[in-house]
Amino acid sequence: MNKGRFGIHGGQYIPETLMNAIMELEEAYDKYKDDPEFNRELTELYNEYAGRPSRLYFAKRMTEDLGGAKIYLKREDLNHTGSHKINNVLGQMLLAKKMGKTRVIAETGAGQHGVATATVAAMMGMECEIFMGKMDCERQALNVYRMKLLGAKVHPVEEGTKSLKDAVSATFREWTRRIDDTHYVLGSVMGPYPFPGMVRDFQAVISREIKQQIMEKEGKLPDVVMACVGGGSNAMGAFYHFIEEPSVKLIGCEAAGRGIDTFETAATINTGKIGIFHGMKSYFCQDEYGQIAPVYSISAGLDYPGIGPEHAYLHDSGRAQYVAVTDDEAVDAFEYLSKIEGVIPAIESAHAVAYAKKLAPTMDKDQIIVINISGRGDKDVAAIARYRGEDLYE
Ligand SMILES: *Cc1c(COP(=O)(O)O)cnc(C)c1O
Repeated sequence: MNKGRFGIHGGQYIPETLMNAIMELEEAYDKYKDDPEFNRELTELYNEYAGRPSRLYFAKRMTEDLGGAKIYLKREDLNHTGSHKINNVLGQMLLAKKMGKTRVIAETGAGQHGVATATVAAMMGMECEIFMGKMDCERQALNVYRMKLLGAKVHPVEEGTKSLKDAVSATFREWTRRIDDTHYVLGSVMGPYPFPGMVRDFQAVISREIKQQIMEKEGKLPDVVMACVGGGSNAMGAFYHFIEEPSVKLIGCEAAGRGIDTFETAATINTGKIGIFHGMKSYFCQDEYGQIAPVYSISAGLDYPGIGPEHAYLHDSGRAQYVAVTDDEAVDAFEYLSKIEGVIPAIESAHAVAYAKKLAPTMDKDQIIVINISGRGDKDVAAIARYRGEDLYE
């Protein structure tokens, strides 16, 4: 396989102005990824700052209620800043420090990745600037304030649909303007090589822990590991150490929005075609002319028109399966998990919970499902109330 390729996907489709920055990153990552001291420092940050390892929790009432496979929740929602995003941010920013960078920039959609980046920048004493679609700034005003509180500068992006894809484009543009002291902390397993593999490696701590924890609790591997998929980082992290275990079924849950037969969807594998965007070849939601199509999901974190190239490859090879889950199903699952387990999941993670609700009853009682709960749902409570037509202030 060519460097940076996952089957035909991936690669490094970048303008010449970014070549130096990407080559510098590639060299640094090659140098540090197997360096024992780098990995010792990273593990210490994971444990002491992010609160790892995250729990693998047996969902007893949900298991009994569905009457099929045993269900475990991988609790990434319990990490500092409330999602899996911190795993990648800690890895990239430790690397950026080793590279002598003093400033980081990042894109954000709902604000989770921006908050994680601003948080770690504060902790490491680095300058931080976040690019966020103007529309997302308005929808997620609380996270904008949170980032400012953490000392970051937030730039509203006015181009295009003023959402996540435009924020990614704006951050790449900013990086080409200033690479000497600046690292771009990309938030998912996407973009040009080496980002997809590097972000996956930093998130792979999730499946490393699941494997160890399930062996301790059950003495065997799970039958299914499932996760929601936006760019695909929490899913790649949850899948990675099971890819070479053929007995473990891997299921990614995409956001169908209002349905995959409507234009209001973000289900990339289910509705997209092969294309090249944001430095990579992969599947993208496109119009008939190959332009990137506007996408929609109730979940801002899954609202991206592409998917990481390694997922595209896992789909092509048949190793992983990608299913589409609608807004309605996700909202039902959000409420279901809150009531039955006392765990309010992120609306993104609720997409995986929704599919588990369908799948578990079709499986035997001695089989095991692990659902990656990528984040906590506090940020979504107001939006869910609105979805249900309830007024929060009454
Ligand atoms: C950002 C985010 C996602 C989507 O990103 P992936 O790279 O697909 O993991 C999912 N869940 C939560 C809680 C997020 O913050």
